Amino acid sequence: MMQAEQTLNHRILLLTTARSYRGSAFLQAAERIGIEVIPVVDMSRELADYWHYPLGVNFNDPAAAIQTMLDFHKQQPVQAILGIDDSGSLLAARASERLGLPYNSPIAAEAARDKYMMRTLMAQGGVPCPIFRRFFTNTDPHLVAAQVTYPCVVKPLNLNGSRGVMRADHPAELVAAVQRLTQILQAEMPDGQPQPYLVEDFIPGFEVALEGMLDGGQLTVLALFDKPDPLDGPFFEETIYVTPSRLPVATQRAIADTVALAARALGLQMGPVHAELRVNAQGPWMLEVAGRSIGGLCSQVLRFGVDESLEELILRQACGLPQLSTEREQRAAGVMMIPIPAAGILQRVEGVAAASAIPLIESVEITARVNYPITPLPEGESYLGFIFAKGATAADVETALRAAHGKLTFHILPELALKLV
Ligand code: ADP
Ligand code: CA
Repeated sequence: MMQAEQTLNHRILLLTTARSYRGSAFLQAAERIGIEVIPVVDMSRELADYWHYPLGVNFNDPAAAIQTMLDFHKQQPVQAILGIDDSGSLLAARASERLGLPYNSPIAAEAARDKYMMRTLMAQGGVPCPIFRRFFTNTDPHLVAAQVTYPCVVKPLNLNGSRGVMRADHPAELVAAVQRLTQILQAEMPDGQPQPYLVEDFIPGFEVALEGMLDGGQLTVLALFDKPDPLDGPFFEETIYVTPSRLPVATQRAIADTVALAARALGLQMGPVHAELRVNAQGPWMLEVAGRSIGGLCSQVLRFGVDESLEELILRQACGLPQLSTEREQRAAGVMMIPIPAAGILQRVEGVAAASAIPLIESVEITARVNYPITPLPEGESYLGFIFAKGATAADVETALRAAHGKLTFHILPELALKLV
């Protein structure tokens, strides 16, 4: 009762897309804290009415979308506007600025999702990151191949989940990678305009992901994940994340300092950050820092204080409510994003019960739909599902995730067979 009275007046607009995995975690968190969260969905008002969403806006028409939110705010004042993934973070920042609510500046929000802006600001801010150059898809890739050094990585500016990210070890590979990326970008942006992309030095080493929270520009580390599978290309599919990190404390501190420096370089001030770095003998190298929390269903592995979710921490901060705890639970935790092994139609998944029965496995969630096409990287944009584990040590958790994945069999009707039908 006390809590309900305290927080009754807290109301937040949450920008999301119908395809996001993360909306329901935020809605559950809101219920637990006792605040009101209004989803603002990237869809027409008619469709939003049909699905009983109070607010449907077009994320690509920011002026109209901001007006809709302003009109709502006049009727029912809100404390904050949050984007839960990259697609909504810039609009959330612009709307917050217009309504006079605290959030990241639109420029910082934009830099956190545009890899060229991000690299430019990071380089200016003295953040260790690869040498990069921007090109456009209407430049002959052979000319590009003659201007870059090897090995290098070709990547789009604003896709995610490693879509379109490819390693090239010599000019012929670079030409092939650029041609492949051009096709991906043309399918994504069918307006026929030349599209920008980056070519940057390949940074050898292993990879970590840092989940954090900024408050007045100060970084609190919520979790540091090791990615124990090598990510050396030619494509870079995410698989296992395990926390706590097994790196030496000094290295972990250097990683956190690098993320704080990167956030400062971009001008990020508040809210969740999800950062990815590579670490080698020279220290940490910044790959990217996004102004949002970890993607997919992965946040499920994180628990803080007395069983609070990451989303509860994010909503508390947005409403100006005190944090109860930002200490992650004692147990080690891990998640495996199940990669797509081949293109085709997913026909059947076997072994979920056997995988779930492996000790330390908390759950196995298959998110890909049976009888629908699936596409691996670099074109694909999703996973088959997620495996979650908890245990005494990070090594135990990693072993359990691998064992569970080994129990799963995905029956995929290959693309070639489809073409023959
Ligand atoms: P996305 O936003 O699609 O996740 P990233 O820039 O994070 O794009 O790249 C995806 C993955 O590609 C990284 O996690 C990393 O494994 C690999 N990668 C990207 N850039 C580099 C680089 N310069 N050197 C080495 N690996 C890289
Ligand atoms: Ca990434």
